Amino acid sequence: MPELPEVETIKEDLKKKIINERIVKVWLSSKAIIKNSRASFVKIIKNNKVVNISRVGKLLIFVLANENYLLIHLKMTGQLIFRRGKEIIAGGHPEPAITELPNKFTRIILEFKNDGQLFFNDIRRFGYWQLVNQQELFKIKSKYGPEPLANQFTFNYLTKILANKNKPIKVALMDQDKIAGIGNIYASEICFKAKINPQRKAKSLSKKELLATHQACKEVLKIAIKNRGTTFSDYVDTAGRGGYNISFLNVYDREGKNCKVCQKAKIIKIAQGGRSSFYCPRCQK
Ligand SMILES: [Zn+2]
Repeated sequence: MPELPEVETIKEDLKKKIINERIVKVWLSSKAIIKNSRASFVKIIKNNKVVNISRVGKLLIFVLANENYLLIHLKMTGQLIFRRGKEIIAGGHPEPAITELPNKFTRIILEFKNDGQLFFNDIRRFGYWQLVNQQELFKIKSKYGPEPLANQFTFNYLTKILANKNKPIKVALMDQDKIAGIGNIYASEICFKAKINPQRKAKSLSKKELLATHQACKEVLKIAIKNRGTTFSDYVDTAGRGGYNISFLNVYDREGKNCKVCQKAKIIKIAQGGRSSFYCPRCQK
């Protein structure tokens, strides 16, 4: 699933392409997940403009004219691809390959006056689009905790939300209502950086370990944003960047490989809450 760095990256990329461009056509597949009536959805979006794009956690917010907001959640397998002539920018899940557009997983297409097209592809259909007004947006945003890079995400705040928590630290870091934007990849990476076994109960962390975790949350996300996230494998963006960019990760998807830090132990993969976690048994206690 795309996490904060991936969604931040596609947000910034899309801003350069679609801001203030009129939406001239809206195409919805019968399988598109729209949390509004289709008729009113199309009516509000058609001939409208995206005047800004923001984000809370992993949720993209297209700010439209007239105080309407289009929320886009990519969930597990959502993809956003913008194409205009030979220009392509893409974000989200790496599959399906983007050589063919639209394809059988294309759920929504927006066409802009500048001839650009925004494709929303989603194999498993957990992702959704939803139009809301300002009041509804406010309510939705209030359900998210602060983001790790926000000023409100202080050491005291982290200490408070982890105190008395019986769940494993890695799982606790993914509670979106407590911390917005950390998912499966970066939760493993944060535990590694903080040298904490992901299976430790959140409440068992010492003050020193909490400090390390707090610092790791910020550092890991900062580096990931700088690297434009991790997910997309098979496209080259307009600036010529591409490739499966996971080389900066230390543990995620590295089962059986040597730990990059101690060089001695092999990375272990375990299941936690139905998701995979990766850690070094030597570095993480
Ligand atoms: Zn190690």
